[in-house]
Amino acid sequence: MFRTPLYVAAAAVAASTLFTACETKPATASEGGSPTAETVAADSAAKAGAMSGTAATATDEANAAPAPDPSSISAGSIADAATITARPQVPILCYHQIRDWRAKDSKGAKDYIVPEQKFKDQIKMLADSGYHTILPDQLYAYLTTGAKLPSKPIMLTFDDTDLDQFTVARPTLDKYGYKAVYFVMTVSLGRPNYMSKAQVKQLSDEGNVIGSHTWDHHNVKKYQGQDWVTQIEKPTKTLEEITGKDIKYFAYPFGLWNPEAIPQLKQRGMVAAFVLAEKRDQQDPLFTIRRIIASGYWTPRTLHNSIVQSF
Ligand SMILES: [Zn+2]
Repeated sequence: MFRTPLYVAAAAVAASTLFTACETKPATASEGGSPTAETVAADSAAKAGAMSGTAATATDEANAAPAPDPSSISAGSIADAATITARPQVPILCYHQIRDWRAKDSKGAKDYIVPEQKFKDQIKMLADSGYHTILPDQLYAYLTTGAKLPSKPIMLTFDDTDLDQFTVARPTLDKYGYKAVYFVMTVSLGRPNYMSKAQVKQLSDEGNVIGSHTWDHHNVKKYQGQDWVTQIEKPTKTLEEITGKDIKYFAYPFGLWNPEAIPQLKQRGMVAAFVLAEKRDQQDPLFTIRRIIASGYWTPRTLHNSIVQSF
């Protein structure tokens, strides 16, 4: 059982600054899903004018009725785990730092550091291909009740509170009317190169969703006793104070989880949690929702292929 002294927190932040490979797998593993021949190149999708009037109409319809708050969905109307697992997965991308590579960035770190122009190209590809961003309440309603989603739904998530998510990602997404989920580790709030509380609040006020990513990024599998309070309960409360909204979604540091974590998260108000590219849990698919890391090495075409093959 660890009590996290301040120097550990400082070390965690420093380590995260040096090497943001805080997640373990930049993988594109597919969950037994058949990588179909549908490797429609992003370029041709763009040329075909995928942002058609039809797509826009679909979005308008899906946006017309805001997604219900998960608490308003009665337990009796929530589908069982097998039904949830059987629904087609919505692609979810995970980003960390958005900045140009530096000489000291390791080969491995570059999976987690997407150069600015590359990021802009990736997001433009999504827009040109007709993807519509959705938020966790929409995903939750879809998974639990089969609620409709816009055409070509996708969810964009940003982990670790890096400042460039505010200064670079936010204006890029704004250009396309995209919204995203920001999983914040609260220890880093206000530190150099990380977002401030005011910036997190602004993201929330602008219609993005703030999720919890623990206090200082310790591995959930190692928590005991008071760790649940330090890593989940208090940071969640902090984020609720900052945003004035309930915090309902959680991303596991490093994508690592164990079955013991799920009741602990539920007890503290979480309704769903996000892993990385590994398989979902058959018993608790809502607490093991898959994401893939959009690598800094990926061209828009590679990203598109990964989306199609991984979900
Ligand atoms: Zn992280």
